[in-house]
Amino acid sequence: MLNTRVYGSPIVYLDNAATTQMPYAVLKTMEHYYHHTHSNIHRGVHYLSEQSTCDYEKARNIVKDFMNAESEHEVIFTSGTTDSINIVALAIEPYVNEKHEIIVTEMEHHSNYLPWQALCKRTGAKFIVAPVSVRGELDFEELERLMTQRTALLAICHSSNVTGAVNPVKKVIECAHQKGIPVLVDGAQSVSHQRVDVQNLDCDFYCFSGHKAFGPTGIGVLYGKQQWLNQFMPVKYGGGMVRQIKNGEPAYWESPAKFEAGTPNIAGAIGLGAAIEWFASLPRESIISHELELTQYIRSELLKIPGITLVGSPEEQIGIVSFTHRYAHPFDIASLLDKLAIAVRSGAHCAQPFMDRFGISGTVRVSISLYNTKEEIDYLINGIKRILKVVDGR
Ligand code: PLP
Repeated sequence: MLNTRVYGSPIVYLDNAATTQMPYAVLKTMEHYYHHTHSNIHRGVHYLSEQSTCDYEKARNIVKDFMNAESEHEVIFTSGTTDSINIVALAIEPYVNEKHEIIVTEMEHHSNYLPWQALCKRTGAKFIVAPVSVRGELDFEELERLMTQRTALLAICHSSNVTGAVNPVKKVIECAHQKGIPVLVDGAQSVSHQRVDVQNLDCDFYCFSGHKAFGPTGIGVLYGKQQWLNQFMPVKYGGGMVRQIKNGEPAYWESPAKFEAGTPNIAGAIGLGAAIEWFASLPRESIISHELELTQYIRSELLKIPGITLVGSPEEQIGIVSFTHRYAHPFDIASLLDKLAIAVRSGAHCAQPFMDRFGISGTVRVSISLYNTKEEIDYLINGIKRILKVVDGR
């Protein structure tokens, strides 16, 4: 992919917050599965089924170790972050009523906003949106004030998909737990940039998507503490999740099977396992410092261009930078950059409450990954300058 040419030029792929590219290890693992062991899992006794089951469960264990979950029972394969959050929002419904409140923040992706708003509409609970500061950071004091005895759950992203701001989730979780509030962390943007240790964070739920962490699309993870997963009822029903039906009454398997009804995305899970194994084998500290350096370089170079405003100036940040220009529309900038073979994102990034907070309709978003280089950023900056010369007419 990174050698692909578009319009005759080598691609400069800076849309990693939308999806990351996959290493050969992932493609080869999935190809091997389809060529040699493709079969359904868990219920077959034949060789291929046992092999696929073994590979699928091995992937779960890789994810478990990667996140430092206590047990593989806490790792549920889903179709992605959106699916993971919706599962929790449905499973927790019997514990929520009109006396409760659910808190999200102004910087959430719609995936961590709409499922909670819908839950509140169904149950009569109050939907509360905690504010972000002018720097695009969480207003911790205000959030602390909003968390009360009535709060049934707090849903918060680990990092913003608009500004890259990293939330102090450990501190937030500590504070929430002192008030008896469970916390769901949307880690969609974090797993490929930061260390994630669910035991250290002590979060109740953690969600992410395979395709934003060097894996394939259509696979994701829901981590949940066993105390929650044991008491939750399933939210999807079908084969594979029921131990027996006696006199018409079902008895469900324990988690994760209880939450994985039907044939899962076997190749996707195995591919995600390969992605995480590959990523975990890389020198993490050098990746983090490489990405930080590139991010700071993007910020400082953009700030030198007249008319550009950076959206958000978080103290701690992953490799995502959003900007606007006084004349040029984000869509026009992104479309013209595309003609130079530069892939960036424009729009509201499924975060309209955040856009409203800043009184803007959208941004241009540059998002990097470990494979991006300083030369690519120079090419981007030159591209933006060329475009603005035309748009600005000077
Ligand atoms: N949460 C955040 C912070 C995201 O950035 C995204 C996707 O961009 C999602 C959730 C949704 O992820 P998916 O579409 O893979 O379910």
